[in-house]
Amino acid sequence: KAKDDGKNVYRYYSQQLTRRAMEQVSLASELHRALMQDEFEVHYQPQFDLNSLAPIGMEALVRWQHPTEGLLMPARFLPIAEGSGLIVRIGNLVIDRVMQQTRIWHEQGLDPGVIAINLSGRQVDNERQLEWLEQRLERHRCRPEWFELEVTEDFLMQNPERAIAMFRRLRLLGFELAIDDFGTGFSSLSYLKTLPLTRLKIDRAFIDGLPGDSDDQAITRTIIALGQNLGLKVIAEGVETRAQLDFLRQCDCNEVQGFLLGKPQPPQSISASLRARGRDKRPRPLPS
Ligand code: C2E
Ligand code: MG
Ligand code: MG
Ligand code: MG
Repeated sequence: KAKDDGKNVYRYYSQQLTRRAMEQVSLASELHRALMQDEFEVHYQPQFDLNSLAPIGMEALVRWQHPTEGLLMPARFLPIAEGSGLIVRIGNLVIDRVMQQTRIWHEQGLDPGVIAINLSGRQVDNERQLEWLEQRLERHRCRPEWFELEVTEDFLMQNPERAIAMFRRLRLLGFELAIDDFGTGFSSLSYLKTLPLTRLKIDRAFIDGLPGDSDDQAITRTIIALGQNLGLKVIAEGVETRAQLDFLRQCDCNEVQGFLLGKPQPPQSISASLRARGRDKRPRPLPS
């Protein structure tokens, strides 16, 4: 009997595995179709100055409007895209969209602030990419300082020498540069000081434990102090509660992003709030 159970459990898991594997394979082939049929969208999540809660910019986040599955989040398809190399095409499509949209906002007299764009390691790993970025700026008549390029700490540490060289050139082009998910990738401090950075983003994993967890408190305080000593702005991501916001204020963190203050939204809703903001210059009330 026990043996039978074992077999059934095995069969259950192998069926699950097969289903997962098949899902991965079908998503991978669907990614091609999605690119052809223009199913990717970019949503924007607002970022705020921690003291004044004035909006300072947004982060661009890719979404897949799947014909049958609905709106898919990056966790569902980016790992597959990374594996197959399609991430470069998807990522470049995002950059193109963001620049086009930013141009429109500026033309409408709206001020979106600096827009952060996530880059996969594979997207900054070649020379032609730099030329491509320059061409895109020209094509969309955008200024490089309207954008911040974010690369994860994890990627930077895979090949630090190369990453430093690429970052220097991106900075020379005029882009702002940030390390994303900071605190999770064991950066070497000596590399950190040689990177031409503008901002560190504290990973959500540490913000989650605030204000209660003493390890997360210590790590958050340390990252903020490190950033300030290196002359960088520090932004906390994933802020969901007023208590987390208050803790970050006490630590002199500079900026915040999170569901407490704003979720990622499609560009049409962003346009509407930018217009409303243009009419109303009063400071935002504190969320409770
Ligand atoms: P990330 O760059 O660290 O982006 C922040 C993620 O945290 C976003 O998830 C955002 O929706 C989520 N978030 C923000 N505030 C909160 C909060 O208060 N609570 C919670 N629970 N979550 C919050 P999203 O949009 O699912 O993106 C996941 C990751 O996918 C991103 O993490 C980034 O690494 C990657 N990604 C997104 N768009 C792109 C892209 O265009 N290109 C590349 N290469 N990667 C992208
Ligand atoms: Mg990011
Ligand atoms: Mg992050
Ligand atoms: Mg992340």
